[in-house]
Amino acid sequence: MFCNQCEQCRPMCQNDGPGVCGKDPDVQSLQETVLYGLKGLAAYANHTRRLGKTDEAMSAFIEEALFATMTNVNFDIPALIELVLAVGKHNLTAMQLLDAGHTERFGKPSPTAVTEATEPGPGILITGHDLVDLADLLEQCRGTDVKVYTHGEMLPAHMYPKLREHPNLAGHYGGAWQNQRTEFAAFSGPVIATTNCILIPNGYANRVFTTRWTAVPGGTRLTSSDFSSVIAKAKECAPLKKSAPKSSTIGFHWTTLLDLAPTLVDAVKAGQISRFFVIGGCDGAELGRNYFSEYAKLTPASSFILTLGCGKYRIRNDDHGTLLGLPRLLDMGQCNDAFGAIQVAVKLAEAFNCGVNDLPLTLVLSWFEQKAVSVLLTLLSLGVKGITIGPRPPAFITPNVFKVLQDTFDLRLSGSSAAADVAAAIGN
Ligand code: SF4
Repeated sequence: MFCNQCEQCRPMCQNDGPGVCGKDPDVQSLQETVLYGLKGLAAYANHTRRLGKTDEAMSAFIEEALFATMTNVNFDIPALIELVLAVGKHNLTAMQLLDAGHTERFGKPSPTAVTEATEPGPGILITGHDLVDLADLLEQCRGTDVKVYTHGEMLPAHMYPKLREHPNLAGHYGGAWQNQRTEFAAFSGPVIATTNCILIPNGYANRVFTTRWTAVPGGTRLTSSDFSSVIAKAKECAPLKKSAPKSSTIGFHWTTLLDLAPTLVDAVKAGQISRFFVIGGCDGAELGRNYFSEYAKLTPASSFILTLGCGKYRIRNDDHGTLLGLPRLLDMGQCNDAFGAIQVAVKLAEAFNCGVNDLPLTLVLSWFEQKAVSVLLTLLSLGVKGITIGPRPPAFITPNVFKVLQDTFDLRLSGSSAAADVAAAIGN
């Protein structure tokens, strides 16, 4: 335990025993789980606010939950577990509002082929999650020869008709956040980072622009939605070169999958679909994350893989084939589109007249940052059991707290053998 949050802090607050106030490592663990879950929830709530949507109960809860982590407020493990799950419940509201905000502003998503290549001429790369920034940038580029390319978690922007139909949106470039230093160095134009994940630039900071509170040393932080300095920079920089065209199909938003629900339900009943796997979350650089690509490769040909978040980059380069005329790998969108995976699970459970935990559904989540924590808490707050997380357990969760989660929710850690875990999931 490490706690230094109050004046009473003494060496005993930073070792294995209780602190001066009596806070012990498990209380500290649950307080941190609340704090980290709130960070994720606040990120989604901030996006929804930018789309003109707020929820007073959610905002009030964020204040109340922060307050509950102050010194000498709550030492009670069951109450703190209740609070942890309440973070997940309110995060569902945030994801739901964000989903509605995106769809209302940018149109009903649909599957689409995205060109992953650059064209000769000036170009701007935009990364992060904020689709409002992308929309503003595109409008300010209208009428110029400056093309805009999405990067990382911006890839799902192409599924929204009002974004993909914009003449200045030229395609997608690059993969997950951890490859930025190579990819941004190779992209000759300016880069806009709208949210996490931004790495500290290594030799190209003079071309990096960030929005609002996203910022890096040497970069230019934009405090308004005026992108004229970025557009001017694109015209100054060396033009992009034509790269070999590649195409991928994305945009299997939950509304698209619900349109297909009667077909999917009949196919499950006929034995043509054996299982749905949700494999996604965050990507990262650690070798242990190969577990997720191995896992996806080993899923049976009769199963669908739903993916979301930048964890998709771990599995989308492999050819998973097709099933019932659809790609087996269905890209649902950004990390917040985990809301869509929940919607699909709930609707399938209704169609089969069973609980979500009784569906032929396996969730395998890679986590990296605090939004993934809030998404996991949402799934737990809904009573979803048997989720596998990895590649490592959160360091802020003590063994005692993890045991409570295992006992209550059958929460599992990704193992050393993806083959054994896939075999267990399909009952072999
Ligand atoms: S809140 Fe408790 S554990 Fe933390 S520094 Fe203060 S007395 Fe120590």
